[in-house]
Amino acid sequence: MIDLRLKIEPFPAVEPLVVRLRYDAASGEDDAASGEDDAVLVDRDAGRCEFDYNGFSLVVHAPDGIDLDGDVIMVLPGQGSAHRLVRAASPHNTFLVTEQCDQLCVMCSQPPKKHHADLFPQFLKAVELAPNRAYIGLSGGEPMLHREKMFAFLEAAAVVRPDVRFHILTNGQHFEEADAERLTGIGVERVLWGIPLYARSPELHDQIVGKPGAFERLQRSLSNLMLAGASVELRTVVMRQNFAELPALSNYICNRLPFISVWALMQMERIGFGRMNWASSFMDTSSDFSALRSAINMVCASGIEAALYNFPLCSVPQPYRHLAPSTISDWKRKYLGSCEGCSSREACGGFFEWYKHDEGFRGISPL
Ligand code: SF4
Repeated sequence: MIDLRLKIEPFPAVEPLVVRLRYDAASGEDDAASGEDDAVLVDRDAGRCEFDYNGFSLVVHAPDGIDLDGDVIMVLPGQGSAHRLVRAASPHNTFLVTEQCDQLCVMCSQPPKKHHADLFPQFLKAVELAPNRAYIGLSGGEPMLHREKMFAFLEAAAVVRPDVRFHILTNGQHFEEADAERLTGIGVERVLWGIPLYARSPELHDQIVGKPGAFERLQRSLSNLMLAGASVELRTVVMRQNFAELPALSNYICNRLPFISVWALMQMERIGFGRMNWASSFMDTSSDFSALRSAINMVCASGIEAALYNFPLCSVPQPYRHLAPSTISDWKRKYLGSCEGCSSREACGGFFEWYKHDEGFRGISPL
């Protein structure tokens, strides 16, 4: 597991500070954002990296072998560690916008909290300092609970860094018809909205997300997004609760939501509520792929793209493996001892760090 925090020595920040680390002052010269936000390496010895930040010494501890060049970190006042907001060498960078949420999904990996710390100005600065053509995730909680600030953030980011694109996870409860102008102004090609839909049945969907009326509100939001021409990745976590209903959901998508960019069918993450409800919710699709097969066949026949996220390759029947890219973020991905020597390890996304094999897939073996 890759630690997304770095130990730092006491630094006199009085407010959250976003800094880009540079190994060489010249390395950012072609970059419009370089300059006063950069800290340049002056000394490195046995995991201790000293950077010069506008005349101040910023000391970061990182094991040898970790490349920090171009990383964007956030230093919070009085804290002995810095958040690695953007790892320049990784495609897996996500800003946690808020831990608040208005749903209570049975498989939630990040159960909601009441408190919200607003870091939009810091996130905007991090976007400004990100590598060229970065693709950044925004997640929660529910980011669109702060919809005015989210729109303002995306509009500002489109101005300062039009090359940066975003993937935003949202429960789809907060889009209005009047949002169309703002969505197109931001650039519909620059944002992919990842939105969950768990069942065709409103009752089952509402039960899974723990919110009466959520299905109906979601349909309204999806209509609004469709009218704006927004890009939508529809996400369905496969569980015991909705497994048998997947073909019906697939039929619904073909008929009512053909505008989506992709339908992502996802395996569960064993953390948060997902861990608490694992025994009642985890569906071992390596032992029974039947409903998934029907659902995928139907959408693909309609010309809608389908994908399998977070599925170890050997858990998927061979004809469907090309739909299962490596999607688990590098910092929380692991492989099993039995994966040693597997011919597909390079292409396989493996398992979440918190996966427990004795409660997991029964029908897997090295390819
Ligand atoms: S055995 Fe191979 S395909 Fe299966 S999880 Fe391990 S690396 Fe992936």
